[in-house]
Amino acid sequence: MNMLGADSTRTASTACWDCDFRRDFDNTFLGICTWFEAHGKGPNKDIPPALVEKGCKHWKKKQR
Ligand code: SF4
Repeated sequence: MNMLGADSTRTASTACWDCDFRRDFDNTFLGICTWFEAHGKGPNKDIPPALVEKGCKHWKKKQR
């Protein structure tokens, strides 16, 4: 199948890299997830390697 308009961007679209809640702070390896602080759920957290490529259910499109 080679349908015109097929969604070929899906693979990385919900990774933490593209998430609005991810921040780069000093001395963080993969970045920090700010979702927790933004929602009053506790401090920011390091993004774990197992999550960074696939994101989580709170993923939000990064604002430019
Ligand atoms: S863990 Fe979830 S909310 Fe946090 S940066 Fe990754 S996708 Fe976004």
